[in-house]
Amino acid sequence: MIPFNIPPFAGPEMEYLRQACEVNRKISGDGEFTKQCRAWLEEQTGTAACLLTTSCTHALEMAAHLIQIGQGEEVIMPSYTFVSTADAFVLRGAVPVFVDIRPDTMNIDEKLIEDAITDRTRAIAVVHYAGVGCEMDTILEIARRHHLFVIEDAAQGVMATYKGKALGAIGDFGCYSFHETKNYSMGEGGAILLRDGVYLEDAEILREKGTDRSKYYRGQVDKYSWKNYGSSYLPSELNAAYLMAQLTVAQEINEVRLARWEQYREELSELEQAGRIELPYIPGECRHNAHMFYIKCRDLEERTALIGFLKDREILSVFHYVPLHSAPAGRRFGRFSGEDRYTTGESERLLRLPMFHQLTEEQVSYIAENVREFYRNR
Ligand SMILES: *Cc1c(COP(=O)(O)O)cnc(C)c1O
Repeated sequence: MIPFNIPPFAGPEMEYLRQACEVNRKISGDGEFTKQCRAWLEEQTGTAACLLTTSCTHALEMAAHLIQIGQGEEVIMPSYTFVSTADAFVLRGAVPVFVDIRPDTMNIDEKLIEDAITDRTRAIAVVHYAGVGCEMDTILEIARRHHLFVIEDAAQGVMATYKGKALGAIGDFGCYSFHETKNYSMGEGGAILLRDGVYLEDAEILREKGTDRSKYYRGQVDKYSWKNYGSSYLPSELNAAYLMAQLTVAQEINEVRLARWEQYREELSELEQAGRIELPYIPGECRHNAHMFYIKCRDLEERTALIGFLKDREILSVFHYVPLHSAPAGRRFGRFSGEDRYTTGESERLLRLPMFHQLTEEQVSYIAENVREFYRNR
């Protein structure tokens, strides 16, 4: 069976875990490995600061707290996304305002954002679907004119860029995920990227139960106290050790993934040319990270048949994201601005093929051959 995903495992993970336990003797948060991950991420993205978190969901939640979004205030976002993009703001009583996506990248359609702005709008939360950047220059310009925060859900975007800038480092706040389904993992975990260092102190307090314990650890204060509301958003050293093992070979992992992605594209291009399927589009200003390889079938019925066909040949393919505006909580907490021209229709056609670091060339050939076989018989 070819699984849909295998969690990334680079090799040194067990040695790093051993070091955390036996050498550093520190397994709670903010130890040596957390520091190394932070330094790596800050260097890689060029942000003022980057804090590891317990998930991307929690990084988004931190962003919602940091901008102090209030009851009834609005956040513009795509409906075609994971629930966390909306959840983080809904927890503070804010209203997700869903905007349609572009069918080419499946990202929020930047041309529709301005129509969704009201006098209650506080932020735009963009999602870089499949590690392919949104049209950020346009989005930042709209945000600047309307005094809105830009929060990037870059859960899928580690090591990807837009006009040479790291995804997650372009808006006011960026959120990464290191869940086991992402390109680099710590089991469960994530990071918040702060473009502006002025938020660092608040972010550290928020992440450490509302205390200034981070300052205390650095010897900047001689005792720590309760400063503000907060929660526990810092991950353990064990998770950070696991992640660091992959960050040290991040470039190699990225190259292998990109090679498999290219291979899929080449081996399926004849189906695309024949007009049977559509393949992902990467805008010229974006460098993606092969987070995902998807195809678009003609319709839902064809996609369901293809999933079954591949499953019979021991290949697991998946679809995802029932658009949030049609989910029970989405209907209760949010609203759709404008027309759903593409969100539902495109999401019903999209099929994700297996993509993970350890996927082999032979497996990609086998999967592509079976997709071609399906269309030969149709
Ligand atoms: C995976 C993912 C998340 C959630 O990440 P966690 O680390 O599991 O909280 C949020 N948004 C998007 C777009 C994702 O793909």
